[in-house]
Parts: sequence; C-alpha cells; structure tokens
Amino acid sequence: MTIRLFGCVCGQFHSPGSGLGMDVERVAVPIPFYVVEHPDGVALFDCGLHAELCDPADPYRQRLQGQDLDSPVEAHELAAAHLERLDIDPASVRYVVLSHLHFDHAGGLHQLRNATVVVQAREWAAGADADMRQRYALPRRFFDLGHDVKLVDGEHDLFGDGTVTLHPSFGHTPGHQSMRVRSAAGDHILVGDACYHGGVVETRAFPAHADHAAMGQSLDALLALRGPDTVMVFGHDPAQWGERPVLPSARD
Ligand SMILES: [Zn+2]
Repeated sequence: MTIRLFGCVCGQFHSPGSGLGMDVERVAVPIPFYVVEHPDGVALFDCGLHAELCDPADPYRQRLQGQDLDSPVEAHELAAAHLERLDIDPASVRYVVLSHLHFDHAGGLHQLRNATVVVQAREWAAGADADMRQRYALPRRFFDLGHDVKLVDGEHDLFGDGTVTLHPSFGHTPGHQSMRVRSAAGDHILVGDACYHGGVVETRAFPAHADHAAMGQSLDALLALRGPDTVMVFGHDPAQWGERPVLPSARD
C-alpha cells in the first residue's frame, strides 16, 4: 500500500513582513496546499485560492489591497490545474481537509464539488457565526458552498489506518487543525498556519489577530509529535518552496 504526498503552490500572499513575523518591510510568501494519494481515495489538505482571485479587479482582491495585502495567482496554479497535472480528476477527490476557513486555504473548494469537507467542529461553528466571521476574517463566500461536511472534534484518523491523522492546533483561528502524513517519502507534519514559517518556532511571533497562548500550546503539541525523521511543513515558509521545494508537485 503506497501513500504519496505532493505539495503544490497556489499563488502568493503579499503583506507587510510584520504580519508574518518577518523582520523585513514587505514579503511575498507561497500559498501551499497538499495532495495525499491513499489507496482508499485522494485527500487534499487545504486547497488554495479561488479562481476569481486571478483577476486583480476581483472584489476580495480589492479588499485585501485596501488593507495593504494582496494575493496574486495565475490559472495554472489553481487546485484543479495542479490535480490535472498529477492525472487526478478534481471531481474524484474524496476529502478536502481544511486547516481553517481563511480565504487562502478554503478558496479552491469550488473546484472540488464532490469532496467531503473535513473540518474541526469549532471552526465550522465560528464560520457560521457572524461576529466570529468578522473577527477572524472567515469569508463565507469561499467555504459555504453546500459540500458534504464531516465535523471532527479533536484528533481524527482520516482513513482509519493511522497513516493520515488530523491534530487540533487551535489559536490561529478557533478550530485550526494540522495533519500528519506517513507516506512513501517519510513522515510529514503539515502544520498549516499554526506556524507560518520555521523562524516562528523560535520567535513565537504569532499574528496579531490570533490567540497567542493557544498558538504557543498548539505549536508545542505539534513539535512533540515529531519522530527523529519527521519533516515539519510550515504554513507559508518561502524557504520550503521555490528552488528546492520540501515536497514534489509532480510525479517523478
Ligand atoms: Zn494562510
């Protein structure tokens, strides 16, 4: 039984460095999502940006630009385009596990119509609450599309065999979660935005909007899950993509 893990980049997030815990004025960081090929089906961890964000005049892009942010993306970087290059029919994807409901993680759901969305119950509850949506910037337009939704509460074993497990890592948003994948390429912990990049493991420079005490505990719990050869794949770490990506986006 071979399990394969791919990592794909779907556009960039532009922001003042301070928003990402980086000591530079402006940054452009990758927006990754992940594809797990398991004998019982294909699962994605996050799904990148919505296709409409390819247009700089898209209202959500304009709103970001009004906050000194942006998320440029091109059509060939969208979830469906990556899957097609992997010879995976987007309509065949069984699960989309969402780390959380931010636009750069849930945006690709509209291209994955037949998937069951797997999300922590408390994240989904936050997405259903107008005040929480506002406070944590959870844009309903991207995630509330009528998919079958499987709500989980805490740890969850996605395929029931221990190879793909979900781990609550609350704090960035109320119900953020991370994923551990035991694949042919070894053990990876897909951290998501529980930690934006490797530097934050030391600095603990968490984003302003977040619950810092909860994020600290969540990061410690994820680090404690590591075995000697586990690779931590962070939420938006420029050092893990670009020239030498931490995971392949194509078959050998
Ligand atoms: Zn993010």
